[in-house]
Amino acid sequence: MDPLSDRTRLIAAATRRGEGRRPVNPPIERASTMLSDAVDDMRDGSLGPLYGIDGTASQTALRQAIADLEGAEHCWLAPSGLAAVTLPLLALTRPGEEVLTTDAVYGPSRRFLTRYLAARGVTARFHAPDATAEEVAALISERTRVVLIEAPGSLTMEMIDVPALAAAARARGVLTVMDNTWAAGLAFKPLAHGVDVSLQALTKYVGGHSDLMLGAVCASDPAVVKAIAEAHEDIGLCVSPDDAWLALRGLRTLPIRYAEQAWSMRQVADWMAARPEVSRVLHPALPGDPGHALWKRDFTGAASLFGVVMQGGDGKAAHAFLDALRLFGLGYSWGGFESLITYETPQMAFRVNPPELEGPLLRLHVGLEDPTELIADLETGLAAWRAALA
Ligand SMILES: *Cc1c(COP(=O)(O)O)cnc(C)c1O
Repeated sequence: MDPLSDRTRLIAAATRRGEGRRPVNPPIERASTMLSDAVDDMRDGSLGPLYGIDGTASQTALRQAIADLEGAEHCWLAPSGLAAVTLPLLALTRPGEEVLTTDAVYGPSRRFLTRYLAARGVTARFHAPDATAEEVAALISERTRVVLIEAPGSLTMEMIDVPALAAAARARGVLTVMDNTWAAGLAFKPLAHGVDVSLQALTKYVGGHSDLMLGAVCASDPAVVKAIAEAHEDIGLCVSPDDAWLALRGLRTLPIRYAEQAWSMRQVADWMAARPEVSRVLHPALPGDPGHALWKRDFTGAASLFGVVMQGGDGKAAHAFLDALRLFGLGYSWGGFESLITYETPQMAFRVNPPELEGPLLRLHVGLEDPTELIADLETGLAAWRAALA
């Protein structure tokens, strides 16, 4: 039989034969101490985890499922998406070395690089979000140890040629780590495109219900696996069996939610793009987007997260727009069942080179509501925007 699709595989992992009478879903085992029958057994890892921190049934099942989804030999869980960013960076860098990343990197990842890692002798350099893979490769220096890739970029959604950048980095002996949260491990497979480490915030689409914080890190190369496994163990990272169980529950419906939300996103994004109050919609799945050709070549799906640059106006009008909405929630994070909107212009100030935008920058996440009703809500918001500017 041909390899199964992600959609089928994520479910088939639960219905596997040959494991005896059991519930469909693994039990939530809450444990620190694991008991053995004999002293001889107390160091035998083949009999199961030796201690709660090694991971019980739900954590093990989730690690296997995410590794399978990302096409990786190994997966480690972290207590948040941010911890999934920091783990490989801590594991793979040494004082005197450098991390090269996009100026559109996720904000807390930037903070970790410029505050925590910099204080320990690992510096960061930021390239233009719209740089080509060749331009980024040309910035690699003697000190560069890791290129941290995020595509599309946070908030402004720039794409990069990931296979070309991964190949160029590898040729220089530099590792690549990709934040794959936007693709949820589903729409893009970093390891299959030559990237060394793929990580994602399971908090977002995998969890899918805005009720947990979790991250995953995946890798296959033996030296990289050894470094990350040791760092994970040394730091003492551990996640709750309940949260792992919730993430597994989310995983079974991930492909359906992702595809449905992408369809709704397209209705909402196309409608927004046609509005006179809007200058540009930032999403690589839209045909006019600068990243569209790369997205189309390498990605098999799209997240329902996009940026909107307003045409003129100001922060006060943006606040009026968001405050007038009734269906879009005001809140951070994304990937859940609910639509959300945020005003992101203040975030641009953290960039080395803040982009010149035609007006306020908003970020929309489209959930599972009826998109025609979401559009009606945005229409109300735009009336408030216009009234604020009158
Ligand atoms: C949200 C997010 C993270 C961090 O995830 P948390 O679980 O919220 O810590 C990392 N990277 C990207 C791209 C994100 O959107």
